[in-house]
Amino acid sequence: MNLLFPSKLPLISHPTPLQPLSRLQQQLGPDAPTLWMKRDDLTGLLVSGNKVRKLEYTLAKAKALGVDTLITCGGIQSNHCRATAVLGAQLGLKVHLVLRGPEEAMKTGNHLLGALMGATIDVYPLKEYVTDLDAILRQHQQNYAQQGRKAMIIPTGASDGTGVWGYLDAAKELQRDFERAAIQPEYIVCATGSGGTQAGLTLGCHLSSKNAQVMGFAVCDNEAYFYKKVMQDIRDWQADYAQAVDLADMKVLVNDQYIGPGYAKATPEIYACIQGLAKTEGILLDPVYTGKAFYGLLQEIKRGRFKGCSNIVFIHTGGVFGIFSESHLPHW
Ligand SMILES: *Cc1c(COP(=O)(O)O)cnc(C)c1O
Repeated sequence: MNLLFPSKLPLISHPTPLQPLSRLQQQLGPDAPTLWMKRDDLTGLLVSGNKVRKLEYTLAKAKALGVDTLITCGGIQSNHCRATAVLGAQLGLKVHLVLRGPEEAMKTGNHLLGALMGATIDVYPLKEYVTDLDAILRQHQQNYAQQGRKAMIIPTGASDGTGVWGYLDAAKELQRDFERAAIQPEYIVCATGSGGTQAGLTLGCHLSSKNAQVMGFAVCDNEAYFYKKVMQDIRDWQADYAQAVDLADMKVLVNDQYIGPGYAKATPEIYACIQGLAKTEGILLDPVYTGKAFYGLLQEIKRGRFKGCSNIVFIHTGGVFGIFSESHLPHW
C-alpha cells in the first residue's frame, strides 16, 4: 500500500495495543479461531474510541481551511460528538452539537462530557432531527457566517471521504501489529454505525497484499444500506483525493442480524455479554456498538461461521462513556 496520506493532526497516543483474549478463549473451545482485540478504546482518555482516528484528518483539513467553529451531529450519547467537543476544546475551536433525543440520557456519559467541554448543544426530538437535520446544520453554519465565523459541518461519525483516511491509517498500523504477532488473520471485525470505520478498514485490506476480510456488524439500518454507505465513502475518498485504485473486486461484508430492538437499544443477552467480557478480561464494551458487535461475533463463532479460521481480530472502537447512561437498567 503506497498511498500518499494527507497531513493529519497527531491526536492519538499511537499505536494502540493488539492483544489476545486468552481467558475468554478457554471458554470458546478448542475449535474456535484465536480471538484478538485491537484496543482502539485506548486511543486516549477523553477522546477514547474510533472517532479520533477520523478526526485527525478532518480537523487537519479544518485547520488548513481556517475554520474556527465545528458543527456536528449524532445521538444524545454520541461518542463522535463527545470526541469532537473534547478536541475542539483542546484546539481552541468552538463546537456546536446537534443531538437527537431521548432527553433522559442527558447530563451523563458523553452528553455530560460534551457540555463540560463547553460545546453548544441543541437537542431535537427524533422526528424533527431525521427530517430537518441538513437544514438545521446549514442554518447554524449561516448564522455563524453572519457573526464573522467560519464553521465547518462534520457529518455523522466523521464518516466521509476525508474520514476514510483514519482507518486506512489504522489498517497500516494493523499490518505492523500482525507482523509483530506473527499472525495473518482471516477476518477483521468491527461494529458499523455510520460506516466510516468499515470503509477505511475495507479499503486498507483491499489495498494490502495480506487479504484479510473486513466484516461489519450493523448496529442500525440493514446490509443494503451499509453496503451503499461504505462504497459511497470510499468513492468520495477516491474522488476527493484523486486516488486511482481499482475497486472492482473489493468486498463489503455486513452482518445485520444482531441489531436487536434498534439503535442504542440492547437486549439482556448483550448486557450479559458486556458483563461477561468485563469479568473475564477486564475490558469494557458499550451497549450501543461494541457490545452488539462482539456478541454477534461470539454467536457466529459458536454457529461455526468462522470454522477453519486461525485468527480473528475484533476492533474495540470504544464507547466507554455510553455505559453510564445505562446504569439505571435492571440488567446489571
Ligand atoms: C461510532 C462508533 C462505531 C461505529 O463506527 P462508524 O465509523 O460510525 O461506523 C463503533 N463503535 C463505537 C464505540 C462508536 O462510537
